[in-house]
Amino acid sequence: MKVPFLDLRPDSLGLASELDDAVRRVVASGRYLLGPELRAFEAEFAAYCESAHCVGVGSGFDALELTLRALGIGAGHEVIVPAHTFIATWGAVAAAGAVPVPVEPDGYTACIDPARLDAAVTPRTRAIMPVHLYGHPADLDAVHEVARRHGLHVVEDAAQAHGARYRGRRVGHGATAAAFSFYPGKNLGALGDGGAVVTSDPELAARISLLRNYGSREKYRHETVSRNARLDEIQAAVLRVKLGHLDEWNALRARTADRYLTELAGLDDLALPTTAEWAEPVWHLFVVRTAHRARLQRRLAEAGVETLVHYPEPPHLSPAFADLGWAPGSLPLTERLAQEVLSLPMGPHLTPERTDRVIAAVRESLGAS
Ligand SMILES: *Cc1c(COP(=O)(O)O)cnc(C)c1O
Repeated sequence: MKVPFLDLRPDSLGLASELDDAVRRVVASGRYLLGPELRAFEAEFAAYCESAHCVGVGSGFDALELTLRALGIGAGHEVIVPAHTFIATWGAVAAAGAVPVPVEPDGYTACIDPARLDAAVTPRTRAIMPVHLYGHPADLDAVHEVARRHGLHVVEDAAQAHGARYRGRRVGHGATAAAFSFYPGKNLGALGDGGAVVTSDPELAARISLLRNYGSREKYRHETVSRNARLDEIQAAVLRVKLGHLDEWNALRARTADRYLTELAGLDDLALPTTAEWAEPVWHLFVVRTAHRARLQRRLAEAGVETLVHYPEPPHLSPAFADLGWAPGSLPLTERLAQEVLSLPMGPHLTPERTDRVIAAVRESLGAS
C-alpha cells in the first residue's frame, strides 16, 4: 500500500458533487468578483474564527503584506518574525518595504520564543509576527505582553492554523489581525490561491478592503495607490463548502496525530512533536526530528510512504535574503531544525489502514519492528 503525503482530490474527500454545484452556481450567476459568495464566506469565516471581521484576499502572502501596509508599516521599519518558518512570512515583510528580524524558536514547540523577543526590539520595530507553525498556536499571551511593553502591533501568521485554539479560543479571536492562506494544501484550501485577514478592528478591515481593490471603495474613485489582491467568487464558493467540513477534517488529523504520538513513542533517534498545555493544535503538519533524516526518508520512500521536509533551508540562509547578511551559524536552533525535521503524511485522506502503514514503516525503518 502506498501512502501519499496528501490527497486533495474532491473524490477522496467525498466532496465531488458539492464542489461541482458550488462552481456551477457561480459560473451561472455571471458575477465573478466581489459578489455575494465572497460576502457570505467572509461572514462565515469571521464567525468560525470567533472574530468580528474577515476580508478575503488573493493569498496568504497578500493577507500578511496588506495587513502590514494597512497598519502603516513599510520602509524604515522592522518586523520581528520567526527564524523558523515558511519563507513567505519574511517575504511579506520585505514586500511591504520593511526588514524582517528573526527570532529563534523555543525548542519545545517549533514556534517563536517569546523570551527572546525583547532582545530583538529596536527603535525601528513596529510589529511582531508570530506564526502558528505546523498548526500549533504560538504563545500569544507572552507575545502580546512584549508587544504592549514596546507599543508594537501583533500580526499573526495563521496560514497553517485554521481552527486551532489558544487557551480555548480560536486563533483569530481578539486578534488585531490574523492572516490565513487557502493554498490548496492548507487545512482549509481553495482550488487555487486564496487568503483572508481576520480582525476585531473595523477600520483595519476597511483599509485592507481598500488595498485589495486598487485603493477603491467606490468604482473609479481611488483613495490610495494599490494593486488587486481579491478572492474570487468561485474560490469563495468552494471555501464555503469546505469550511463546513473543516472541524471534521481537523478531528481526523488529531486522531491520526494521537496514533502517531502513542505508537511512535520511545523510539531511538526520533523526537515527536510536543503540544503546549494551552494549545489545541490542528496538525497542519506532523513533524518529527531525527539526526539521520536522509536515511529515514529513504527507507520510508522504499516502503511507499511519502514524506516532505518543512523546511530544508531557513529564510536567513536563502539567497532571497542574502542582502540581510545573516551568516551560517547565526541562528543555530533554526539551522538544526532545518537539518532534522521530517513531515509524516498528514491529512483527512489518512484512513486507519494508511496510518497503520506509516507507523509500521517508521518502526521498521528505525529497527524497532
Ligand atoms: C502558506 C503560508 C504562507 C503563504 O500563503 P500563500 O497563500 O501561499 O501566499 C505564509 N505563511 C505561512 C506560515 C504559510 O505556511
